Amino acid sequence: EIEVRGLHKSFGDNQVLRGIDLEIAPGEVVCVIGPSGSGKSTLLRCVNLLETPTAGQVFVGGSEVTHPDVDIDAVRRRIGMVFQQFNLFPHLSVTENLTLPQRRVLGRDKAQAAQIAAENLQRVGLSDKAGAYPSSLSGGQQQRVAIARALAMGPEVMLFDEPTSALDPELVGDVLAVMRMLADDGMTMMVVTHEMTFAREVADRVVFMDGGVIVEQGTPDQVIGNPQHDRTRHFLSRVL
Ligand code: ATP
Ligand code: MG
Repeated sequence: EIEVRGLHKSFGDNQVLRGIDLEIAPGEVVCVIGPSGSGKSTLLRCVNLLETPTAGQVFVGGSEVTHPDVDIDAVRRRIGMVFQQFNLFPHLSVTENLTLPQRRVLGRDKAQAAQIAAENLQRVGLSDKAGAYPSSLSGGQQQRVAIARALAMGPEVMLFDEPTSALDPELVGDVLAVMRMLADDGMTMMVVTHEMTFAREVADRVVFMDGGVIVEQGTPDQVIGNPQHDRTRHFLSRVL
């Protein structure tokens, strides 16, 4: 699970996160929504230490990842992250994209890494693309490879930062279907998204952020269906 306590993050004078408290239970799916610049990406990036918090604590699976003595690489191994841009290695085949990090970071041998790569390609429905290069795949297929690559590392939690925002509309559904399957399999997930239908149908909880704070949170029916704050209503009126 994930626990964020009193998290603050500033870039110079710009206070981007102003005290975030958030708990995500094992197997829970939390969608984070909010306007551009509200600090959603910064929050995710603080969870896996791509950004160093200015103050506050983050716990993953009960251990404090913000502890000064923490092994950052060990933390990142436990947290899968998928970005808007797929960041695949263009000179490697799909299978090699999945096996390289397993071998480099986890020290798995070639056969074991290949086996786990195949299992995860099957999970995202891309077994037939194992030998293909990223440039020959659609954006949606590339993003599913990126998800499979993260899963092959055996993460405890998965973070998604607008995973479908760079995709043509007709490719969004396949990626969301993979994420829905992961949610059904019990993966703990934190998803920054503008896909309100996905949030409504898949999220256990929706968190609305604005100005570096959580303005409100609750079930999708509560936050999207019956928002309590003007800022939430205003945001939803623009995205729904
Ligand atoms: P969007 O919906 O556009 O992705 P967001 O909610 O993800 O927005 P963030 O990317 O977290 O917002 O950015 C919040 C604020 O932090 C912005 O004002 C941004 O300019 C600032 N910011 C983010 N990263 C950095 C950085 N590395 N250095 C300086 N400022 C940053
Ligand atoms: Mg962002």
